[in-house]
Amino acid sequence: MAQVTGHGGGVWSLKVPIPDNPLGHTLVHLLDTDAGPVLIDTGWDDPASWDTLADGLRALGTSVTDIHGVVITHHHPDHHGLSGKVREASGAWIAMHAADTEVVRRTRASRPGVWLGYLTAKLTAAGAPEEHLTPLRAARASGRTRTLPGLRAALPDREIVPGDLLPLAGRRLRAIWTPGHTPGHVCLHLEEEHPARLPGNGRLFSGDHLLPGITPHIGLYEDPDDTTVTDPLGDYLDSLERVARLAPAEVLPAHQHAFTDAPARVRELLDHHEERLTGLRALLATPLTVWQVAERMEWNRPWAEIPYGSRNIAVSEAEAHLRRLVKLGHAEAVPGDGPLTYVAV
Ligand SMILES: [Zn+2]
Ligand SMILES: [Zn+2]
Repeated sequence: MAQVTGHGGGVWSLKVPIPDNPLGHTLVHLLDTDAGPVLIDTGWDDPASWDTLADGLRALGTSVTDIHGVVITHHHPDHHGLSGKVREASGAWIAMHAADTEVVRRTRASRPGVWLGYLTAKLTAAGAPEEHLTPLRAARASGRTRTLPGLRAALPDREIVPGDLLPLAGRRLRAIWTPGHTPGHVCLHLEEEHPARLPGNGRLFSGDHLLPGITPHIGLYEDPDDTTVTDPLGDYLDSLERVARLAPAEVLPAHQHAFTDAPARVRELLDHHEERLTGLRALLATPLTVWQVAERMEWNRPWAEIPYGSRNIAVSEAEAHLRRLVKLGHAEAVPGDGPLTYVAV
């Protein structure tokens, strides 16, 4: 059953399910334009999700074949998964920020095993214990490689240029580059008066950048061939301040529900990360590897209960926090034999 919500002023959201995921669904937004309906994100590539999207569009008196364009907040499969199918059905264009298009291009081109090799090297450098590395080595040796959904992701045909208005007939939708969750994440600012005249500046489609009750994952922007040391957490915190300054009347995120008072939510997230960084600095009174830091950081459950795959994500997030501390001059990397350790300064 399609779940459709009207937000007024030619904007709707459709709940498109994400199979086997605690998040439950992606909120795909539909924006009416003079050239036809435009989607902001499309949902997970799965038959049931596709049917839900198609049913929802039908309930709104339109259809997947009528879609004029697809604007993607970021490349993750719960946002970009169905874009290729929508384009096939309708001839719609797909627009994405260049940094995320680069990730799509790289993932599609990667040979099997490259990612596993990279992950193994990365975790070894982080100081992961032997029992964590063994299954990765075994998978690589056997040639069995997990099929990543990104391998089939659609290459966009248009670039979202930060700061520009998207060419949408009759609407003012401006791209705000908000790197952090992914390198090319964008929020989309609908610079039109709120339909219920709520105070503030228009409405913001926030993707995964700003959500009412979840802190988005901040990992590394991993490109096995690029040795640039990125600072995704620093990018994310800057991007949060950027959207707070916009002071939108309402935020329409890609998960959970619409909300108001973006600056207050930004403040909560900034405080949360500040607290985490302070806690992390205290932990670094003695030198620790990235793995040891991940074990000691606070997660949504004790380390012993965190499943294998989520530990890899936690290690990536721990490293993002360490890089921020180093950049702020609050910690430094200590080279030596074996995995790199970090210590507070
Ligand atoms: Zn995401
Ligand atoms: Zn998401």
